[in-house]
Amino acid sequence: MTPLRWLELAVPAHVEAVEAVSEILGRFGHGGIAVEVPVEPRGRADHLVKAYVVEDAEAFAKVSDIRDALGHLQAFGLGPIGELAVRALEDENWLDAWKAQFVPVRIGRFLIRPTWASSEPTDAIELVLDPGMAFGTGLHPTTRQCLEALSTLDLEGRSLLDVGTGSGILAIAAAKRGASPVVAVDTDPIAVSAARENAVRNAVAIPVGEGSAADVPGRFDIVVANLVSPVLQRIAPHLAARLSSRGTLLIAGVSAPAERDTCDAFAQLRLAALDRSQQDDWVALALGR
Ligand code: SAH
Repeated sequence: MTPLRWLELAVPAHVEAVEAVSEILGRFGHGGIAVEVPVEPRGRADHLVKAYVVEDAEAFAKVSDIRDALGHLQAFGLGPIGELAVRALEDENWLDAWKAQFVPVRIGRFLIRPTWASSEPTDAIELVLDPGMAFGTGLHPTTRQCLEALSTLDLEGRSLLDVGTGSGILAIAAAKRGASPVVAVDTDPIAVSAARENAVRNAVAIPVGEGSAADVPGRFDIVVANLVSPVLQRIAPHLAARLSSRGTLLIAGVSAPAERDTCDAFAQLRLAALDRSQQDDWVALALGR
């Protein structure tokens, strides 16, 4: 039997068009849709919707049907979408190869397990995630740093806000270590739905809202924000406003060259670095008053 060859179809899309583009690709694709969410929203077509089709006799017709459907979508003005890119995948086992990148990983007290891997007996706290959607599989160095910090912080019965929750990984980890209540927000609606699904999958109750630190009422014992330095600096006053008087603010995603400016922005809000970790070029800081 000749091995199947696969085509990867990728369409850049504005967040408002992601659902419609996914629907079109889903009609033709095999094995679901993956949506890549940008770490920092840039507006326009900054999401990438991907699907896979078998390269058979009908593939050409399918791709041209998809192009037509995407053309109609654009005509409805559903936010900008980019050009459909088609790429042949050399490895017929691409799906296995892709999944193999996401083997269960142990980080601190947590074991991050992709949905398709079976559960093994473990003394770790399991986090079950579908990495098909949104940033935050637990593999990015900044996510690791946050998980390590959440492994050692005293969380039992303490309230926690996760700003820029992505897949929800940090909020879920905190809830599983006893933090309560846990609230999560993300400006990206795709991340919000991924985080909601992952919370259900992990049997933790976490309200996930669309928005940022400024949109949440109240104060929290712990605030976590794994964002990028310019965003952290911009929303620093809102992060500080969400923190209870003796609370801990955990920030990650600070690039080493931006560390000083970032620390200055928080120092103006009377928040000083209490702890620091660095992985590659990424700095994570625990701040307090
Ligand atoms: N917390 C996850 C995801 C981090 S990626 C993890 O640690 O793995 C950063 C997330 O922040 C993205 O989902 C992005 O949509 C979101 N984001 C970017 N700017 C934001 C802002 N100003 N307020 C809230 N969320 C933001």
